[in-house]
Amino acid sequence: MSVLIVGSVALDDIATPLEKRTDLLGGSASYASLAASYFAPVRLVGVVGDDFPPAFIKMFKDRNIDLTGLEVRAGATFRWSGLYEQNMNQRRTLSVALNVFEGFAPRLPQSYRQSSLVLLANISPDLQSAVLDQMSGHPFTIADTMDLWIDTRRDDLLGLLGRVDLLILNDGEARQLSGEDNLLRACRWLMARGPKRVAVKKGEHGCLLAGPEGMFITPAFPLDVVRDPTGAGDTFAGGLAGYLAKAGDTGFETLKRAVVEGTILASYTCEEFGLERLERLKEEDWSLRRQEFRRLTAW
Ligand code: AMP
Repeated sequence: MSVLIVGSVALDDIATPLEKRTDLLGGSASYASLAASYFAPVRLVGVVGDDFPPAFIKMFKDRNIDLTGLEVRAGATFRWSGLYEQNMNQRRTLSVALNVFEGFAPRLPQSYRQSSLVLLANISPDLQSAVLDQMSGHPFTIADTMDLWIDTRRDDLLGLLGRVDLLILNDGEARQLSGEDNLLRACRWLMARGPKRVAVKKGEHGCLLAGPEGMFITPAFPLDVVRDPTGAGDTFAGGLAGYLAKAGDTGFETLKRAVVEGTILASYTCEEFGLERLERLKEEDWSLRRQEFRRLTAW
């Protein structure tokens, strides 16, 4: 089964207390697509400008990511710049330039419309809904979001929730959207508005999955060096979606495994800037990390 992924494709400038990097490949769809591609065929929907580096297109193609749905428009690619504080848990957005995203209306190629699994990676909820409007049938729909949309597009986001099977968001966003400080109550509030299941990301503390079947919790993979956590959440979502597509199943037991696989992939993203580590992922190293994760969580 393949995964359709819509989201941002960006050029990022990132500063940490130790380093500063510019013009990195970023964007929610970039991280999510690369992560998902380790499990299943990926169909990408997004937009870039005519300044988008051919090397990044090549990287997507080398991973067999279908770019039929990647529109190239005259103008500059979406740009985002962020700054991490000393402990790497606090991030400030320094600037956002929508550029070609302004006025973008996603158009699904005919070949994408039958996809049975869709990941609406982080972009505005109206664009996420516009993608669903063009799908035939009832794909299993996963949606990610961010605080910006809770602040500025709350009604669109609440409307989208009714069309989503699995909502992914971080703990702060779950509290902000629901108005509930307690995470279990926040999950119940969210599930009452549409998504059958909710995955709450808790950064270095892992993830909580809630559904009618009950709950599942996992820690994150412990790292002694975090160079750049940008995109960890998008990698998690992409890895999770890719794993479900590979399994061809979306039941709770498979979802638990998908959450763990997404968590492990996200750890690679944090080790280097942008997609640089995930791009070089080797099966031998990956399977050792899986074993280590199993050892760390068994009791
Ligand atoms: P994360 O670290 O998971 O929050 O994801 C960071 C990525 O999100 C960066 O690569 C940015 O390019 C992208 N991003 C930041 N702001 C937005 C936005 N408003 N819409 C879509 N993508 C964004």
